[in-house]
Formats: sequence, structure tokens, C-alpha cells
Amino acid sequence: MKVYIDGKWVPEKDARVSVFDHGLLYGDGVFEGIRSYNSHVFKLNEHIDRLYESANSIMLKIPLSKPAMRRAVIQTLKINHLENAYIRLVVTRGKGDLGLDPRKCRRATTIIITDRIKLYPKALYENGLSLITVPTQRNIPEALNPQIKSLNYLNNILAKIEANLAGAVEAIMLTAQGYVAECTGENIFIIKKGELYTPPCWLGALRGITREAIILIARRLRIPCAEQVLTRHDLFNAHEMFLTGTAAEVVPVVQVDGRSIGTGRPGPVTGLLRREFRRMTQTEGVPIK
Ligand code: PMP
Repeated sequence: MKVYIDGKWVPEKDARVSVFDHGLLYGDGVFEGIRSYNSHVFKLNEHIDRLYESANSIMLKIPLSKPAMRRAVIQTLKINHLENAYIRLVVTRGKGDLGLDPRKCRRATTIIITDRIKLYPKALYENGLSLITVPTQRNIPEALNPQIKSLNYLNNILAKIEANLAGAVEAIMLTAQGYVAECTGENIFIIKKGELYTPPCWLGALRGITREAIILIARRLRIPCAEQVLTRHDLFNAHEMFLTGTAAEVVPVVQVDGRSIGTGRPGPVTGLLRREFRRMTQTEGVPIK
């Protein structure tokens, strides 16, 4: 597999960054996870827009224009002959010195890694997930806004460790006030009396691109959908629940902190939204050719 680094495609084993890169030293940088389906990059423009917004927020100048970045992503897939892929786009602050000061980093490092997509086990979708809420709270937006998809994922990693220790596949992260924020790499939705609810992003969650797609699909299907502040009580008493993310797509949740959600089986509205989302992935996207 060839990796794109700063305008060149190099073999995986030669793909290296400096030990002085602030992405490595301080997690100073931004990233995106993107997928291609049947030689079409799904929501490419949305992912590129979010990458540039994250970079703008941390005052990181991406050396490529957006059209050049789009071309670089597509070219990387072409070079690697990938049709169904996972794409990791990374822009770090670049090489600096051992101090924090980003002004010492003269040029950002741009990396595009592609891989064959590794799908989650089918049983996960058929049986649904059992989740737990974890003690580690989501970063407060005033300290490090979760809407910035930064290379500093320690907050999420701590939550993942807590889920691992408890034997759960994923962790529900709450805000400092105890409201539902998101999982370590997915957004959260519940269904109650046929209506869809998801926490507002300002509360402390990434504006997921799959989340936005589900909101759009719900509108098209005339399923009422609202952003609402949710507590664990709301999750426990939901009729259905699911998570959304680029890698996971739409995954049903059947248990939270030992409480069964709805019937304890993946629900019909979740199934419908999942099918419609999969249809969207097969019919939309920027062609690789
Ligand atoms: N929340 C977090 C913290 C994430 O890292 C991600 C992406 N993996 C998501 C939500 C889901 O976002 P998207 O649908 O854009 O992949």
C-alpha cells in the first residue's frame, strides 16, 4: 500500500514523519476518517470541509487547497487500486522544536493512509450492542471543543479503556453536567414514540457526518427528528437506540448500564434507517475514476 506524504506517494514502510513533528509530540493536528464504496468516496466534500474547519479552529494552515486535497485522496485510492476503502486523512502542525510553540513549525505535514475496509462482525448489527457509561467525561467545549476532530484523542481513549475493563464494546461519555454527549467514536440516537432524538453538538459532541446523513434520511422519511439534551434516564427508557459513525455506519444498541432498551432487540425504525443509510452509501459519492 502506498501512503501520501506531502505531495509524494511512498511505500508504507518508507512512510515516516519526524520525531519533532508536533502531531507526535503534542497531538497538535487534525484528522478525518472517510470511506469509499464501490469506487465512490462517500461524503468526501463534507469530510474535507470538516477537516478545514477543525484546522481553522486551531489556526493550522493546510498547505493544500480543498480541490487539491480532494484530488490527493482520489489519487491515493487509484494508486492503491482500492474500491471499498477506509481513508485516514491527517494534517499535523509539522516539524518544530521540543517547545509547544506552533510558530516554530514552518509547514504542516499532510498524510493520506488508505486501507481495505475491515467491517465489524455481522452479529454486532444483528444482536445489537451492550454499552456502559464511563467515569471519564467528554472534554468540555470551553477547554477543547469536541467538534474539533483533533489528533488529541486521549479523552476518548480513556473512556475506551474503561469500557474495555468492563467488558463493553463501547462507552457512553457524558458531559461535565451529566448529560449524554457521544460514544468514543460514534454519535448517539434514541427513538421514543416513533420520534428520533440526538444530543445537540454544542453540548460536547462531534458533528458526525453519518449523524447528519441520518437526520436527512429521517426528514425524507417524515420521521420527526430533534436535537435534544438527553440524560441516562432518557436512554434507559428509549424504545430504540443506535450509534452512527463512518466506520460503524448505523449500529443498534440493546442495553445500557444493564437496562434493556425497548424490547432488548434491535428495533424496526433503527432497521429502516440502517437500510436507507446503506442505500445512500451505494448511490452517492464522488467517483474515483
Ligand atoms: N464522535 C467521535 C468522537 C468520532 O471520532 C466520530 C468519528 N469516528 C464520530 C463521532 C462519528 O462521526 P462520523 O459520522 O463523521 O464518522
